[in-house]
Amino acid sequence: MAKSSDNSRRKFMATTLQSVGLSAFVGVLWSGYSAEAKAAKLVLRPPGALPEEDFLKACIKCGLCAEACVNRDSNVDQETGEQRPGTLKMAKGGDHKLVGTPFFTPRDVPCYMCDDIPCVPVCPSGALDEASVTDEKGELDINKARMGLAVVHKESCVAFWGLQCDACYRACPLLDEAISLEYQKNDRTGKHAFLLPVVHSDVCTGCGLCEKACVTEKAAIFVLPTEYATGKAGDHYVKGWDKKDQLRVGERKMDEIETKTKRSEKAPVDYLNKEIEY
Ligand code: SF4
Ligand code: SF4
Ligand code: SF4
Repeated sequence: MAKSSDNSRRKFMATTLQSVGLSAFVGVLWSGYSAEAKAAKLVLRPPGALPEEDFLKACIKCGLCAEACVNRDSNVDQETGEQRPGTLKMAKGGDHKLVGTPFFTPRDVPCYMCDDIPCVPVCPSGALDEASVTDEKGELDINKARMGLAVVHKESCVAFWGLQCDACYRACPLLDEAISLEYQKNDRTGKHAFLLPVVHSDVCTGCGLCEKACVTEKAAIFVLPTEYATGKAGDHYVKGWDKKDQLRVGERKMDEIETKTKRSEKAPVDYLNKEIEY
C-alpha cells in the first residue's frame, strides 16, 4: 500500500516538474518573442508596406518580397556576374525585429528604388499594398513609397561644421526634390558658406541611399520610420496665411477658434518683467 502511494507521489512530482519545466520554457520563448516584438518599433519595411500594426497582421512571413529583391535583374555584380546581397532581409532571432518579417537596414544595404518594384506585386497577402505605389495611370511608381523619412543630426553632419560635403545630396535619386542644399553664410569665418542638407518630408521615400553614402563614422543622416521622425502640431492650429487650411475650419471666424489663455487675454505690459504666475 505504502509502495503504491510512493509511486503515485513520484508520478505526481514528475508530472508537476514536467509542466513547470514546460511553462518555464514557454515563458522564455514568449519573453524572447515579446522582447523582439517590442524592439521592432524602429524597423523599416519594404516599399508599399501597410502601417506597422496592419502590416504585422497581414504579413504571412513567406519571404517572397525578399526573394524578389535579391533576385532582381539589376542586383547582379557587373564584373563577377554574381548576385549581390538583397536589400530586404527576413528577421531572425537576435535581429530585434518580429521574427520572419521583412525589413532593411539602409547603412548595410539601402533600397535602390527599382522602377518595377519587384518586391511589391509578389506579395500574396496585401501586406505590401500595390495601390499605394501606383500612379494615376495605373503604373508602379516607386517615388510614391514612404518607407520612412531621412533626418539629419546637425551636430555630427560635417556640412554644419562648414566643411564641404554633399555625399548624401548626390546619392539621392530625388535630388533637389527629396533633399536640397541650403546656402547659409558662415559667420564664424566671415568669408565662407555653409551648404546644408535639408530633407523634404513630402517627397523623401526613406530609401536610405543618403544614409549609406554619408561619410561620417556613424551616419549623420539616417532614416527613421515616419511616425518616429515627425511631429504633429494638432488640428486646433490654423495657418492663417494658407487658404486651404482656412477652408479646413469652415466658415468660422478666426476669433471664434482662437485659443484664449489667462495670459493671452492680457496686454504684454500687464505681465512683462513682473513676477506673475499664470
Ligand atoms: S524597390 Fe527596394 S526593396 Fe524593392 S526590390 Fe527594389 S531594392 Fe529591393
Ligand atoms: S511577400 Fe508579403 S506576406 Fe510575404 S513576407 Fe513579404 S510582406 Fe510578408
Ligand atoms: S532617404 Fe535620403 S536618398 Fe532616399 S529619398 Fe530620402 S533624402 Fe533621398
